[in-house]
Formats: sequence, structure tokens, C-alpha cells
Amino acid sequence: MPTVTRQDPSESSTNERVNVLITPLPIPPPVDELKALTRSKRLFRACTGIDVRALRIETDIEYYLFMDMRYEGRWASFSMTSCKWVTVTAEYNAKLAEKLTGTEANIIPKNPRALIDKLGKVEALVIDKISHNDYSSSRGSETFWRKHCAVVSLSKSEAEPSNPGEKKRKVQTCGRCRQVKYPGGVGSKGNHKKQYCSDGVKPKDGTDFSPEWPQPPGIFTSGAHFHPVAFLTTLREMYETTVMNDGRDVVVDMEYLAFANLLAVVYFQRS
Ligand SMILES: [Zn+2]
Repeated sequence: MPTVTRQDPSESSTNERVNVLITPLPIPPPVDELKALTRSKRLFRACTGIDVRALRIETDIEYYLFMDMRYEGRWASFSMTSCKWVTVTAEYNAKLAEKLTGTEANIIPKNPRALIDKLGKVEALVIDKISHNDYSSSRGSETFWRKHCAVVSLSKSEAEPSNPGEKKRKVQTCGRCRQVKYPGGVGSKGNHKKQYCSDGVKPKDGTDFSPEWPQPPGIFTSGAHFHPVAFLTTLREMYETTVMNDGRDVVVDMEYLAFANLLAVVYFQRS
């Protein structure tokens, strides 16, 4: 495979250089733990330090484990908090590792985001199945979906339109926190707030960016207020538990991650 450097000494041979540049890129080395990743996924991993497989629930084993745990724990997006997500993700990863031990599959611990996204998709599917009274799975049996649709009451109003013939509304999920917006019908306490997510941040702001969900409690409220004392308190707490602790025994939860992301955005906006 020909190689090219940015400072090719032979400036006269531009055509040759272009020919080298347009030849297909070489196949990456056959590293065992990376063989399931495409080249773009490897690039993402190198740039961010995140294995894209940690962000998705993809294989059958991963999916059925997720569905079993959703069933047993009666997970519903509107009743999950960031702390609960951290706990159930740790349990999920431990069970997944148990299932994969002894197989050839790589054990990639999931990021909570993978479970949050999957729950949002499953809930939309559940509501859709209930509203269309169609519980069939790809194999034709109804057992699987009847079981999983019945375990958590998600949205009575969405599933049962008040007037016969009334068009069934599409399930609405918050684009920021992935919560089903109106699980309990009009006026229900469990509904997503109109102006803000569970961490007090406005989901969409035309005049400013919306920091990632979930921000630590107390910094933002009602989608309209920012509390500098809570912000500084969180900043100091995070500094003490991470930097001052020399990285030992640190459990960086989702709120700290989202908060660190907010700091990074503010930093780059100012610099
Ligand atoms: Zn939200």
C-alpha cells in the first residue's frame, strides 16, 4: 500500500500524489476485540474513547435481556430517574457479562444512554401495538408482546381514543430526555412537564442551547431559571470527587457526565 505524507518532497508529481490519495484506504489490522466495528465506528472510538456498541442494544441476547429486565423491574420512562438508570445499567451489564462469558462475543458494558434510548423505542412500540390491537411478533405469535404490553400501564389515553373513529395520535416522546410525554392522559402527574424535563431544563430553546439530560438537581428549574449557587456547589463537588480524588473509586454518574458536557460547551463557546 503506497503511503503519502503531508509534505511530499516531490512537488512536481502532483498526479502521482492524487493517485495515491484516491486509492482505497487499507483494511485496519485484525484486532480481535475490534473486528465487529466498521472503520467509521473505529474512528469514532479513537476520537471519543467511546465504543459505539456501548451506546446501543443490538444483539438478540442484549435485547431479550433488556426486555426481561424491563418486565421484572416494570421500567417506565416516566418513573425512572438518573440514579435509577445508573443502578439498572450496572445490573444489566453484570447480567450481560454473565450471559456472554464463555461465548466468543466481546463484553462491552453499556452506557445508560443505550438503555434509555431502547426504553423510549420499546414504549412507543408498546403503545402502538396496544392502540392497533396488534400483538403479533415477527414469528407470528402474540405471547411475547401481550406479556410485555401488559406489564406497565403507559398511556391509557393514547391507547383508547375517546371517540370511535377518532384518529389515534402518534406517541410523543421528548427528544431530550426520551420520556413518553403523556403517559397518564390529560392532567396526570406522571406526564412530562410542558416547559421542562425532569432536571428543570427546557427541552428546546430557540435562543440558547439545551444542555444534555440529566443535569444535576437544583441548577435549572421550570425551564426558565438558572441557579448559580447550585451550579458552583455542583462544580466544587465534582472537582472534589474526581480531580482531588486522583481518579480513585470514582463513579461518574449520568448527572456528572451531562454537567461536564455543559461545562465543555460553555468553555468552547467562550474560547
Ligand atoms: Zn424531556
